Amino acid sequence: MSATSSRITGVHTYDIRFPTSREHDGSDAMNPDPDYSAAYLVLRTDAGDGVEGHGFTFTIGRGNDVQVAAIDALRRHVVGRRVEEVCGDPGSLHRDLVGDSQLRWLGPEKGVMHMAIGAVVNAVWDLAAKRAGKPLWKLLADASPEWLVSQVDFRYIDDAISPDDALALLRARADGRVEGERVLLERGYPAYTTSPGWLGYADDKLVRLAREAVGQGFGQIKLKVGADLADDVRRCRLAREAVGPGVRIAIDANQRWGVREAVEWVGALAESDPYWIEEPTSPDDILGHAAIRRAVAPVKVATGEHAHNRIVFKQLLQAEAIDVLQIDAARVGGVNENLAILLLAAKFGVPVCPHAGGVGLCELVQHLSMFDFVAVSGTTRDRVIEYVDHLHGHFVDPVRIRDGHYTAPTAPGFSAAMRPEAIATYTYPGGAFWAADLATRQEQQGMTA
Ligand SMILES: [Mg+2]
Repeated sequence: MSATSSRITGVHTYDIRFPTSREHDGSDAMNPDPDYSAAYLVLRTDAGDGVEGHGFTFTIGRGNDVQVAAIDALRRHVVGRRVEEVCGDPGSLHRDLVGDSQLRWLGPEKGVMHMAIGAVVNAVWDLAAKRAGKPLWKLLADASPEWLVSQVDFRYIDDAISPDDALALLRARADGRVEGERVLLERGYPAYTTSPGWLGYADDKLVRLAREAVGQGFGQIKLKVGADLADDVRRCRLAREAVGPGVRIAIDANQRWGVREAVEWVGALAESDPYWIEEPTSPDDILGHAAIRRAVAPVKVATGEHAHNRIVFKQLLQAEAIDVLQIDAARVGGVNENLAILLLAAKFGVPVCPHAGGVGLCELVQHLSMFDFVAVSGTTRDRVIEYVDHLHGHFVDPVRIRDGHYTAPTAPGFSAAMRPEAIATYTYPGGAFWAADLATRQEQQGMTA
């Protein structure tokens, strides 16, 4: 098969679930028992080089099958496409997926269908970066400003950022890219850790993990809040005592509050000097975030992990509703839409501190922040990528943290590929782990019957 005529031949999907709820890993005020899961896909081609594109979106258990079905519904747009065409211009596929005249009704550009689009688009970028022999961050950082701008859908955001604005931002940074890459490879990208702060953890575990985080070089930790005020006051004090005054403590309510409640609750925690309050209220309440921000300053307001798309981010910025913008690699329509969001943030001068954790979100989003540093913002000041030390061992090219920093990946691709044995073990419900789990539960039911 000649290289110029190779086509995508298959979209293979997997429902992969990890039993994280049993240790309260990932527990917060809204999500007490998540089983971290991935609706996962593999693109195969007939190029004969064995190179595949891997992508996924993250869910927390039930509904992962629905998410997989949504990816399956996009197959007709993908299978049969020319590999060179789609890898040379992932934006063309992105536009076709978003524009499907019938599936669009299920969004538009939000929810399960949009997350499925993100998974497919990200798989194409993984394939493109592997074929180019570069990690995704470098594929993007080496690209011309004109090509990057061609990858962004400016529909519904050109009142806030025009293609010319985006081009000017990227061109202004072009001369600094070589030095930026050198600094990135030497130092990595700053991280903060959420590992000490899950709501289900006992106080002694919180204190121990907070101290360990500081010892590991993290300059910021995060605590989950929002279930019980007295508990939060106590836990924030313990954390502050554990880390001392020089380490930032972010707090995260995972959408638990209404606007007034958020203002009161954050006010009660102010004595522990929180750096930002994350997701204080509904992710759809743009004006609510703006009101909270005005009321709780100097505590900063952060959100974005549940923001549907670039249009919501545009409004959060226009309304001066956030101090910190939290992209998520697997919530919106993939790399293309995140390019739009990074450019919006740069235009408004708001730092980007990505949401990560879950399954593989750290692996993905590091590439976007590293590209942002090299080719867009040119700085890591007040910027940190979330880090959670769960489930990395299931990935072929897991993140590497050194002295509180993400080390820049060097392997070609988007770091999205899961190890085949992890897929075989944790595929739901037929994988080895879940099959054994089901058998055990049936046995227990038999004994109590
Ligand atoms: Mg969060």
